[in-house]
Formats: sequence, structure tokens, C-alpha cells
Amino acid sequence: MVRVRYAPSPTGSPHVGNIRTALFNFLLARKEGGKFIVRIEDTDRARAVEGALEDILESLRWLGIEWDEGPEVGGPHAPYFQSERLSTYREIADDLIAKGKAYRCFCTPEELEKMREYQRINKLPTGYNRRCRERDPSEAESLIAAGTPFVVRLAMPLDGKIAFSDSIRGRVEYDAALIDDQVLLKADGWPTYHLANVVDDHREEITHVIRGEEWISSTPKHIVLYDALGWTPPIFVHVPVIKGPDGSKLSKRHGDTRCLDYREKGYLGAAVANYIALIGWSPGGDREVMSLEEMQDAFSLHGLQPSPGVFDITKLQWMNGVHLRNLSPDELYDSVKAFHETSQDEEYIKKPCHRSFLKGLQDREYATRALVLEQERVKLLSDFCEACEFFFVNEVSIDPDAAAKWFGQPHAKSLYEFLLSELSGRNAISVEDCDALIGKAVQQLGLEKRAQAIHPTRVALTGKTFGPGLFELMSLLGSSRMSARLNRAIELTGPR
Ligand code: GLU
Repeated sequence: MVRVRYAPSPTGSPHVGNIRTALFNFLLARKEGGKFIVRIEDTDRARAVEGALEDILESLRWLGIEWDEGPEVGGPHAPYFQSERLSTYREIADDLIAKGKAYRCFCTPEELEKMREYQRINKLPTGYNRRCRERDPSEAESLIAAGTPFVVRLAMPLDGKIAFSDSIRGRVEYDAALIDDQVLLKADGWPTYHLANVVDDHREEITHVIRGEEWISSTPKHIVLYDALGWTPPIFVHVPVIKGPDGSKLSKRHGDTRCLDYREKGYLGAAVANYIALIGWSPGGDREVMSLEEMQDAFSLHGLQPSPGVFDITKLQWMNGVHLRNLSPDELYDSVKAFHETSQDEEYIKKPCHRSFLKGLQDREYATRALVLEQERVKLLSDFCEACEFFFVNEVSIDPDAAAKWFGQPHAKSLYEFLLSELSGRNAISVEDCDALIGKAVQQLGLEKRAQAIHPTRVALTGKTFGPGLFELMSLLGSSRMSARLNRAIELTGPR
């Protein structure tokens, strides 16, 4: 039974690269009918950030990643917060000391600083000089009795190789002599990442550890710990980082890196999950646009790529557009409404269309039809507000260039008057009727081309020269909205 985990530290809002490892773990669990566990590694109290836990869980939910065990849902290995089971780590540290696999280190921070300085000046390899490893046990006993603070360090092998197999990189080997005697338990009795991580992966029966490659150099320490405790290590899968377009590791200076930033910008969770999965994983063939379910079916560790992928925002935007177009009218309405109502993005909230859109969305049927008409053309949920504005306002704002060009045409006034008279007394008007109406206007006014009627009509009704199909939008606006706009256009036209 595959059991995998995402083990974030609540030190900030998750980055897309970090959340991608959650996604890979989740996909493997679903593909193999296993379990996906979320475990909060909150032992570094100095780096804890308020609100980070909420952001972690919210990011997962937004991407559609559900966990079988962890915060909020519980499970057989609860609690899933490391800070709530400190005694376990302390017992294991004691056990390691008793077996001679770890030792107490009484060196003070000042002594350690002096040691480091000495190593620096003499160009020696840096790392703990193992002074306390050699200490006489009776001396250690009296230091403990005197209440001297200590940390617990792992006694690394002094020579030989430490090897493990990584699913992506194959066999990985480190020289034991080059690895420091890692602190496992701090002076305040709290475990470090290394101890707590290994203990929990064992307790929670984790079969595969899929994590970022920045942890690969910690793995030999973990292997030594597993060995010291007589436990079998899981399968390790270290996934390459995500790079920015300039080839360096994706970071703030490349733009948004926080997963939830993309939600705030109007991306769909499904599109972001799809896109970030494909940065480091190939589903085979030329498949690209996939739902979470399709990715679950196609997922395998063999598809994980050994070289880092590049984050390309243009591609993500394109993919978001495709996912948007795949939404049913109801899904589209619900997504746009939820986005609009919860957006905290100041730039978005400041847009002039914001208020009319909120009001417009109250009429579900009309709003859904308006959104569907724009669905083919937009890339982000945040694009609908502006694109659909003309459907909802009483008075459309007219692009001055478009007005100058089309209201100034000699036939403009007669065209609008003709349309107005044809509309009078009508209620609903179908797309076909609108098409026929424009045809009739062309004939009546003796125009050479349909475009001569289409463009000025569009500007009068929408204020713009582009947008969805004219007959569709005319039919949706209906005759009374159209009449009001045509009347206003007549006032704005020049002499006949
Ligand atoms: N707590 C570590 C992190 O924040 C977990 C690393 C691991 O998956 O082992 O990324």
C-alpha cells in the first residue's frame, strides 16, 4: 500500500515549487489507490509564520488536493503536528544515545563560534569538531547532573560511503567523512527537522518520500538514522527545482511564486495544478491539458523528469484559458462569482467595472449567458469584469476613437433610427432575428457591405470595436437595452 506525505513547515505561504511536491505525492497516492498524508513540521519555532498553516491547507484545497490523513481530518497517526508529540522524539533521542548512535554535546554557542572561526582562518573543512563525541561518559553524567544545557548529535560514520537509491537519479553516494554530526535534539528539547522527519516517516509508514531536491544532501543523514534505529528507509524521489525564464531557480524576482497569488490573479486551481505538474512530469505522448482525474490516471514516477523545468507564465495563461473554456455554464458562473466576491486584489477592486459586475451577477441567468459569450475570448477569471461590463451597465462607456470613427459616418444616424423603429414593440429577439435585422438595415440604407452596419451597431451597443458575436450579444441585450443605447447613440452622432 502506497503511503505518501506532504510535510510542509509553516514558515510562509507555499510557493508553487513546494506545492508541486504535494501534487506529485497526491497523484501517486490516487494512482496507486494509496493514502496521501499531510503532516505539519512545526518544530522550528523561530521560523513559524502566522497564517502559514491556513495558507498551506487553502492552497491544497484550491488545487483540488485532498488529504486522507492530517490536519482537520485526523487519522490513525494523529496528531499530525510535530509540535504535539515532542516526547516521542525525546524518547528516540535517548534510545539513540543508549545505543551509542548519538551523543550529548555540551559545547556552548560561543565555543562553537570560536571553533568555526578557527576553521575559517585555517581553511579547514567546516563542521562540528566532535569534541563531545570523545567525552568520557562519567564526565557527561556530571555535566547533566549540574544542569548543563546540551544538544543531541547524530554520530555519523567516520569513513566509508553512504549510499541510497533515488527514483529519479539512481544511485547516490556521499562520503561519510564529509557529513557533519547533525544536531537531532536542540537544547530546549525540541527536535530538528532531521530527527522528527525520519521518526514520522517511519511511524506513519511512509513508502515514498517525494520532495524537492534541496533535501538530497540531508538524505545521507536520514539513511544513517534509519540504520541506527533499525528501520527500513522509504523510497526517495528528489524532484528538480522549477526555474525562471532566465535559468535561475524560480523566485520572487521572476514574479508571483506564491500558489495563492495565482488564485488572486484569476487563475483556476485546476489549470495551475495541470501546469505545475507538467513542469516536472511528462504524462507521455503530447498530452497537455488534463484534469486532476486524468493526471491521477496517467501518473507514474517514471514520468518525473531529471532536469529542471522552466516556469512560463504565457503558457500558464494559455492553459488557464483552455480550462476556462472547458467549464460548463454553471461552473463558469460559480467560478467567476466566487472569484469576484472574494477578490482582495486592490488593482481588481479599483476597476470601474467592479461594482456594476457585482450587481450584474445577481441575475444568474442573464449573467451566465453574458459570461458564456465572453468565455471563448478571455484567459483569466479576472478578465470577465471588464469584458462583460457593457452587458450590465445602464450607460456603456464609449471608446472615443471608435465613436469618432463610427458615429461620424454619414449613415450612422439613419442606421440607428432604423434599428430603433424595428425594435419598437418587441420583447425577446433571437440571434437569427438580429442577423436578419442587420441584413434588412443594409438593404434599407443601400449600404454596400454588411460591415457598414455591423461596426457602428457594435459601437453603439457595447462602446467597443471588438467583443463577442454581434447577433449573440444583441439577442442577449434584448430590445429595451438596445433601444436605450441606440437612442443615446443617435444623440452622439453628427449631422446626417
Ligand atoms: N518540512 C520540510 C519542508 O518544509 C519537509 C521536507 C521533506 O519533505 O522531507 O519542506
